[in-house]
Amino acid sequence: MIKVTIYNEYLHERASERVAKVYPHGIHEALKENLTDEDISVKTVTLDNVEDITDELLADTDVFMWWGHKAHEKVPDEIAVRVQQACLAGMGMIFLHSGHHSKPFKLLMGTPCNLSWREDGDREYLWVCDPSHPIVQGIGNYIKLEHEETYGEPFMIPEPDKLIFIGNYEGGEAFRSGCCYRRGYGKIFYFQPGHETFPTFYHPDVIRVLKNAIRWAVSDYRGVLECPHIKKIEE
Ligand code: ZN
Repeated sequence: MIKVTIYNEYLHERASERVAKVYPHGIHEALKENLTDEDISVKTVTLDNVEDITDELLADTDVFMWWGHKAHEKVPDEIAVRVQQACLAGMGMIFLHSGHHSKPFKLLMGTPCNLSWREDGDREYLWVCDPSHPIVQGIGNYIKLEHEETYGEPFMIPEPDKLIFIGNYEGGEAFRSGCCYRRGYGKIFYFQPGHETFPTFYHPDVIRVLKNAIRWAVSDYRGVLECPHIKKIEE
């Protein structure tokens, strides 16, 4: 069983009727319902109980998924570092949409992770860059989303180890919408769709990508982050 923990700050859904209509029980509950599978079990955490992200929880998590937007600063630094360290030790991480500005993502990337954006519900095509990659199995050449928030380049991230999707919007913009990284022993996937006012996390192809990404990011290996002094093994 792959153990997934989802963090969602869960503020927009309680502050906006428009968002609550799309995600009545929060983005985390929609993700939990749609991602739970024969081989995937899901726990959730919100900003209200962010202190529950302990070393014990992280040690018991194979893949951590992160959605945040307007309260990145309210996540305590020590929790962000805890998540970063767990990823470096081998825990998989999936950052969704506006998670590009979350503390753990910025710690893991080491760059500002800024981008250009416009919120007017553009149609988006997500073009598959490498059909052989495990994350896009079962997907055609592209995913079409009727409405998404527009994210545009330049996206201030390190060069991805592997680019999985290029997003293209009605307004003409392009964006690196699916990026894979390895940091320490951990695998990381950034996935751009998922604005709170659109039903993106119910789209069958989006759910398929996220399940594929969970199965790709999981690792049985959890290393120890140390820098030991060693003795030579032969005299
Ligand atoms: Zn957004």
